[in-house]
Order: sequence, then C-alpha cells, then structure tokens
Amino acid sequence: MNFKYSMRLTAFGLSFIFVFFAVARLADMRTDTAVFSDDVKKTVPTVVIDPGHGGMDGGAVSDSGILEKDINLQIAQRIAAIYKTMGVSCVLTRNEDIMLNGDETKHKKLHDLKARVSIARNAENCIFLSIHQNKFPQKQYKGLQVYYSRHDPRSQIIAEKIQSAVRNELQTDNVRQVKQATSAIYVLDNLQCPAVLVECGFLSNDEETFHLISDEYQKSLSALIAVNALG
Ligand SMILES: [Zn+2]
Repeated sequence: MNFKYSMRLTAFGLSFIFVFFAVARLADMRTDTAVFSDDVKKTVPTVVIDPGHGGMDGGAVSDSGILEKDINLQIAQRIAAIYKTMGVSCVLTRNEDIMLNGDETKHKKLHDLKARVSIARNAENCIFLSIHQNKFPQKQYKGLQVYYSRHDPRSQIIAEKIQSAVRNELQTDNVRQVKQATSAIYVLDNLQCPAVLVECGFLSNDEETFHLISDEYQKSLSALIAVNALG
C-alpha cells in the first residue's frame, strides 16, 4: 500500500468514525428527549387501588360480624404501602371508612361507584385494582377469584397472573379460574383501562375468614396482588 493511498484511507476512516459518532450522539439525544415525551410517560402506570364498599355500605358480613369493607381497606392500604416502597405510583379511591359522594341522598351506591370510575379515568395510564371479599349461602366454598374487564386485553393477563400467583404461593387447592366481568360489575364495565376485581376470599367460610383477618395472611396476599397487578 503506497503512502498516499494509505493517507486517503485513514482520512476516509476518520470521517467515517466522525459520522458514526455524530449519528450515535443524535440517537442518544433522541433517547434523552424520549424519556420526557408523552409516549414514555404513558408507559409508567398509576395503580388505582379500590377498596370496595365503605361507610353505610358494609358489603358482605361473616357469621362472626366481620365486615367486608374493613378487610378491603386493610388489604388496599397494605398494597399501597408496598407500591410506595417499590416507587410505583398509586391512588386509593378511599383511605377511610366512607362511601364516596356521601352527600348524595338518592342513588348513593351508584354515585359511589361512579366516583370510583371517575378517579380511575383521571389517573395517568391507569391500572384499576378493586379489592373485595366474597360470600355464598353454602359455607364450604372458599378461594380467591379474579374478575377482569373485557375492554382491554391486559385485564385478563393481570387477572391470570394474580390468580396463578395466589394458587402457587398461598392456596394450592384453589381450582378457580379467572372470569370475564359482566355488566353486573359496574366499575369493570365502565372503564377502558386494564381493570380487575379481586374477590380475595369467602366471608361465609369460617376458616378463610380467620385467614383474611390475620396480619400474616393479609401481608402475603397483598404482596402477591401488588406485584402481579403490574402486568
Ligand atoms: Zn364486595
């Protein structure tokens, strides 16, 4: 290789390297900007945790007088605390024993449900997570079951993740399957975001009620729901 040719090749090589790094820098800048773009912001979820019932609406009641609304709030607050330590943005639809829109004299329950939906609709990139307890006339039935909204396919994925995590870690005899919610579940029917409702257990089953009010069980259950609700 003669000297001139070698110089030309070096110059070509240097300009190639320069262009390469310039393009790479531009790509970098684009990435930096993207961090603050609306598209990226929309991928960071806000979990709206919804403790069912509250105030004059106690929900299901166990034979021993345990109220569903109280267990719902305890589990929802535990989930919120877990998200706080994880740095996940979350909102509780109620953080005390109240009915939402309590000043309404007529159609209290509907106003309460509408208020919950409205909180979720106003949350950026919402994942809606409603917490409830079940009840059935026959006492033998037990086990967590997750319902999902039909409006966003991510709802079913989240429901299945929660259902199988609880089956694997906490309730190995639970054979329940996730269920698509009908219009009977107002909050799931009226939200377009990923939305699930967790029936944590049956207050009509004494053994399950005993677990549902215990600190240790609530801690395990809340952690499994919190982690898997993120999809
Ligand atoms: Zn309920």
